[in-house]
Amino acid sequence: MNAMTLDDIIGWKPLLTDEERTIRDSVRRWVTDRYMPRITNDFEQGIFARELISEIADLGVLGANLEGYGCAGASHVAYGLACYELEAGDSGLRSFVSVQTSLAMFAIWRYGTEEQKLRWLPEMAAGKAIGCFGLTEPMHGSDPGGMTTRAVRDGDDWLITGNKMWITNAEFADLAIVWAKTGEDAASVRGFIVEKGMPGYEAHNIPGKMSMRASATGSLVMDQVRVPDSNRLPEAAGLGGPLRCLTNARYSVGFGVLGAARFCLDQAISYTKERTQFGVPLARKQLIQQKLADMGARIVHGCVLGVHYGRLKEQDALHHVQVSLFKRDACQTALDAAREARTVLGANGITTEYHVIRHALNLESTYTYEGTHEIHTLALGRALTGESAF
Ligand code: FAD
Repeated sequence: MNAMTLDDIIGWKPLLTDEERTIRDSVRRWVTDRYMPRITNDFEQGIFARELISEIADLGVLGANLEGYGCAGASHVAYGLACYELEAGDSGLRSFVSVQTSLAMFAIWRYGTEEQKLRWLPEMAAGKAIGCFGLTEPMHGSDPGGMTTRAVRDGDDWLITGNKMWITNAEFADLAIVWAKTGEDAASVRGFIVEKGMPGYEAHNIPGKMSMRASATGSLVMDQVRVPDSNRLPEAAGLGGPLRCLTNARYSVGFGVLGAARFCLDQAISYTKERTQFGVPLARKQLIQQKLADMGARIVHGCVLGVHYGRLKEQDALHHVQVSLFKRDACQTALDAAREARTVLGANGITTEYHVIRHALNLESTYTYEGTHEIHTLALGRALTGESAF
């Protein structure tokens, strides 16, 4: 029998518009031609490919699903598919795009003034200004309401003091969306655009990562940074501000990680067709086929759910619990697929040459960031029972 691709088994055709297929295919080509040749070295050296940012912008993926201000205004499904293809390259590449688009640009687009949108969004869509999103702190991750970063009013300005940790793009970001308390409780949280070069603001790289090595992850240190009130995001009030940004971004994480899983499955399939043990290709062994079948089935389920939820998002009808379910299950599917692909490749599976260990290591981060697996489990449990177990 002729082998079918995962794309065949998903049956994308009736699910997607021509524009969505075109975006998916152009991102897939770019990742194959321009990104794959360098990713092993980038990962080994711990480098994010900053020199490719203008090419990434030319793909139209920065702010892809936002309307106006130089953004492509593509569908949420198109953006999800772009993430799916980017993460087949590396989770760090997709994280760069997700943070720029779904966290930093979205925060300005959703909560900013017209002036802020005109100032930043066209440049960010063009990749000429890069953003990061500072919510997590050294002592406050899953519970951001405990944050200690403070913004204190001083005339027409705010003085911001505090530390943010694990911030993607921090090192080279031109602006940081910083969430800070303006009073004692979580209801006083507000968002600010803190610009590179403002006195008292520093960004540092976090060394020693064994995951997301081809992504820039850093910390933000703010000591009485004077930020004009015109840099406050006026439409964001309370923790709902950052949490809505995260719900928005988690859709891109869910779709993205499935791309990494697809890459690992493809790698495992081609390896087992070539690799002979006990006189036959490994692909003929039932235990191997069981692993491939399990991986493939879960990726198919994830992709179909991604399209369904994308369509709900397009109707503004996607509930945050649905996003929690999608992010949680897709990340588990992808992590399991990468680890399983690693076993299928035997010893070769532990080398960067075959990529699956790189994906497995990266997917440890996706399991934890944008709400940990456990936190999304609690969100689902609360939705199903009406009882909060946080
Ligand atoms: P903790 O909250 O300390 O959790 C530790 C463990 O306890 C986890 O297993 C967690 O699930 C569990 N736990 C916590 N609460 C409960 C509970 N109530 N019940 C049961 N178990 C619980 N943050 C940003 O703001 N911006 C970024 O750009 C960003 N990028 C990141 C990039 C990378 C590569 C990584 C690794 C993280 C990034 N983060 C970013 C931070 C990320 O969102 C946090 O790591 C995440 O929210 C978890 O917080 P924590 O690491 O402090 O873990």
